[in-house]
Amino acid sequence: MRKSRSRSPVGRSEPQPVYFEAPAETIEIQEIDPLPVLEQATRDHAYPGTSIVVRIDYRNTSALLNRVGMAGSLQQLCAALGQTNADLGQRLAETFTPSQLAWLVRALTIYGANAGKLTELGVDLPTVVRRLIKVVRRGVLTPPGTPGDGFVNEVVLCGGWMQASLCAVPMAVRPQILTALNRLYFPGGLPGRPQVIGPLDPELLRAGLRKALTRVLDQQLRPWDPPPGERLERVDFTEIRRIADFLERFVCEVLAPFPLAYADGPLYGVPYSGCLTSSEEVTVDHDGLLGWMENRGTRVGRDPAYEAPMTAANYHPGRTADQEALRQIYADLLSDADFARKVGRLINHTPQHAAADGMTYLLPCYPNPAVQSRAEWRWRMTRTMIHEFMHRITHPNVVDAAQHVHQPQILKEGFVEVFTALVLQRLSDRAAADQEVRDLILGPGTPWTPAPDAYLKVGYGQDGADAQQITKVLGRGNVAIGYFLGDVRRLAIMDPQ
Ligand SMILES: [Zn+2]
Repeated sequence: MRKSRSRSPVGRSEPQPVYFEAPAETIEIQEIDPLPVLEQATRDHAYPGTSIVVRIDYRNTSALLNRVGMAGSLQQLCAALGQTNADLGQRLAETFTPSQLAWLVRALTIYGANAGKLTELGVDLPTVVRRLIKVVRRGVLTPPGTPGDGFVNEVVLCGGWMQASLCAVPMAVRPQILTALNRLYFPGGLPGRPQVIGPLDPELLRAGLRKALTRVLDQQLRPWDPPPGERLERVDFTEIRRIADFLERFVCEVLAPFPLAYADGPLYGVPYSGCLTSSEEVTVDHDGLLGWMENRGTRVGRDPAYEAPMTAANYHPGRTADQEALRQIYADLLSDADFARKVGRLINHTPQHAAADGMTYLLPCYPNPAVQSRAEWRWRMTRTMIHEFMHRITHPNVVDAAQHVHQPQILKEGFVEVFTALVLQRLSDRAAADQEVRDLILGPGTPWTPAPDAYLKVGYGQDGADAQQITKVLGRGNVAIGYFLGDVRRLAIMDPQ
């Protein structure tokens, strides 16, 4: 069924639709939409900052539209890209609005006219068709003719051309440098090579982790005790969703073109603001408790500020016996009901991104104002939203690669922090000069307060520092291709040797 579209009866500048008569007994008026008028000038568009040159030539498609109409043209354009469903053109023509069809017919033409370059880059053309249709279905489209070639650039990004082009850029890094950086993922030594960490002292590890994690719990729970006789102020999730919509655009802008180049990624799906809920909704079960212990244990394990209990006890993250000892320590700590209760409570006060359902869980309250000011908390909340958004747009290859290294948190949290710190710095600069952004982040009418310095630094202890080191040596461009587009060699991940 064609979807209904209401049209204003007056003030219409587009051509009148054509009507035809059906047999008298089944009278219905069917609207035939006017065909889009495509640009006749042929040109080459160079995508700024890349080697991509797009040939734009709609002349054949114009002739095709006049000859076989929209459904027939779509059918042929899709078939030329290897998508041979017999009734695809008809279904598309019946499903989409004229403006959606005007976008799609041009996008298909662009990919068709540049198919040779794409095939050279290894792009699967039927997949391109699927991606373009998905983007049209999502409904957020840059109209053709938008100044600054926004439409053509969007087509290059969402169809997968940019991704293939970026991944084809040579890495230009000497193999010895990659090998040296790769060792960061194996702090105890590469598998099968001499190990550099001595035997584990399990009791030292146990005592050190208990002390460090107890401190983390007490520190992080403190803001969530309200002042005597009062309640904590609730966060307004309508406002949070507005901030999320802005941040989604802002992250893409600051890190362009990398996040949007991931053509099969979540940026072409449900918006971030549609995937937010309160951390109170997290069900605390055994896996959740253990997951918190593993994340936080690794976080403090090599951090001198927490007496680096893993380093001190010769914990080797790749040694099976050490892993087993660590699991036992976590289980024993959680068997203490008071400790487990605190962890459970903190999980409901800890933001997180759940890969399973794609949801981001955010804190539902402002902290006790005696512990942290509201303005500071607004920056903290914003930083958290950026951090969790980075998890959301991380390429799945990175998450897979994390399973094959000894220090997975460099991949899972370290690079998230590298990009989060960068985006927050740009946001702080923008908000200092832009009243609207300032009101959005800090709340309307709040006096200007810059983002606290600590938030502009790369967090997550040694794992963040290692990711930062890799970024410094390989360059942000390489790391972004690795992180957002899944070419993990550019994160110094190497095949097992
Ligand atoms: Zn995280």
